Amino acid sequence: MATETDVLVIGGGPAGITFSRVLKKLRSETSITMLRPEEYSMVYCAIPYAIEGLFEHEKVYKKDSLVTDVGVDLVRTHAVNVDFDNKEVTDSAGTVFRYETLFIATGAVPVRPPIPGADARNVFTIKTQEDMLALIARVEAQAKKAVVIGAGAIGVEQAQAYREKGLETHLVYIATRVLPNMIDEDMATPLHKVLAEKGINLTLGVGVERMETVENQVSRVRLANGDAIDLDPERDFVCLSVGMKPDIALFEHPRLELEHDGIVVDARMRTSLPNVYAAGDNCHFQSAIDGKPIGGKLATNAVPMAKVAARNVAGIADEYPGFFNGAATCTFQYRVGATGFTEELARQRGFQTVSGHGSTTSLFPMMPGATELKVKIVADAQSGRVIGGQVLGETPTADKVDTITLAIQQSLTLKQLAKLSYSAQPWQTFFPARNAIVEACENALGLLTKQA
Ligand SMILES: Cc1cc2nc3c(=O)[nH]c(=O)nc-3n(C[C@H](O)[C@H](O)[C@H](O)COP(=O)(O)OP(=O)(O)OC[C@H]3O[C@@H](n4cnc5c(N)ncnc54)[C@H](O)[C@@H]3O)c2cc1C
Repeated sequence: MATETDVLVIGGGPAGITFSRVLKKLRSETSITMLRPEEYSMVYCAIPYAIEGLFEHEKVYKKDSLVTDVGVDLVRTHAVNVDFDNKEVTDSAGTVFRYETLFIATGAVPVRPPIPGADARNVFTIKTQEDMLALIARVEAQAKKAVVIGAGAIGVEQAQAYREKGLETHLVYIATRVLPNMIDEDMATPLHKVLAEKGINLTLGVGVERMETVENQVSRVRLANGDAIDLDPERDFVCLSVGMKPDIALFEHPRLELEHDGIVVDARMRTSLPNVYAAGDNCHFQSAIDGKPIGGKLATNAVPMAKVAARNVAGIADEYPGFFNGAATCTFQYRVGATGFTEELARQRGFQTVSGHGSTTSLFPMMPGATELKVKIVADAQSGRVIGGQVLGETPTADKVDTITLAIQQSLTLKQLAKLSYSAQPWQTFFPARNAIVEACENALGLLTKQA
């Protein structure tokens, strides 16, 4: 006999949790069942710092009471079959759930590229509790070397963690700069310098050709430029950090629209099947800047998408505008933040760009602890509309990034953002005459004037 539920949620990450909590708040009478196989839902963003040993790794585990306290029935199993026509889902325990509305929040899983040796026992990815515990175990078991493949935010944060734990650390990436989805080459240079200064062996613009193994453990990583990194297969390890792919293999139906990077949803988070919604890392969605598809596998996208889905399921019309992709990361003492398009991406997407830099100090320059801070603003040269921003400094950048995101959201031009009204105080802000966001816009406008 099937278990009946008004809403079945598949997945217990940020999207599943947020959706369930918001829907319960709006409609407490709605019965919600959540299928979530893992022991704990986790704060993934904090995993690199748990590996670095900054706190007990248990602190990344979320409490089930986040959902059970609001009345969600949490079932610790996998969905293994979905019958959209009969509105039924079967889980790994053989239970059949019959739903009125289905919410798919299965997220994404790390990509394991088809490099020979990539399946060896000492080659890890980073996402699950098992991944985190296996990496901590290797580090604690006196690994001497770590090779991180991929230098997006997760790869760089991990490389830093292994280096801080005293390992010889290699960071290898096929792209010619770190964080290519966040920052342009000019903003990446200081990061390359600090990674080298801190003793990380950084190899950019070079792929991994193959990994040689001994008893199914990698003993040598062969790079495409002919170099090799030798490992002790019993102790050392490789971590792949080359991207995420949507976890959607389970969802097949002739009328369910799918793209390579996820389930297609509209602005209300509806899939192409009636009463089936999706949000988070398993979705294909578009940029709010140009309306064209763009990746956006961030918790800061998953959460607002899930809120929109919950409101629509509750009967309150709401729309998600698209991804702006405001994000932040750290590289040793540097804090890095970015939003919208990099100049490189904007050009690839058909914009003629103009950009400007602002460079100032995080506090008034005479204040103890004042450090250099750089802002880059990217705009569409034709309309002057701001379409991207990058911030680099030694103090938190996210507040500046969020200001720029708001400007992008509101379709502000360089001229308008240059008129930003800001506050100033010696301990807290830029020097009054040198707001770096304003300065970057003014410099970009100067370029526009010169071009005209
Ligand atoms: C190391 C790391 C660091 C990160 N740092 C940041 C950061 O600093 N900032 C940021 O914004 N984002 C960060 N992210 C990305 C962020 O964690 C994700 O965007 C976010 O978790 C997506 O949420 P989600 O709910 O869509 O998917 P997930 O969090 O992936 O959750 C998916 C859920 O679905 C479950 N599931 C999958 N298949 C099934 C099935 N068949 N049956 C039942 N359940 C299933 C999974 O077990 C899981 O519970 C980071 C990610 C990682 C891995």
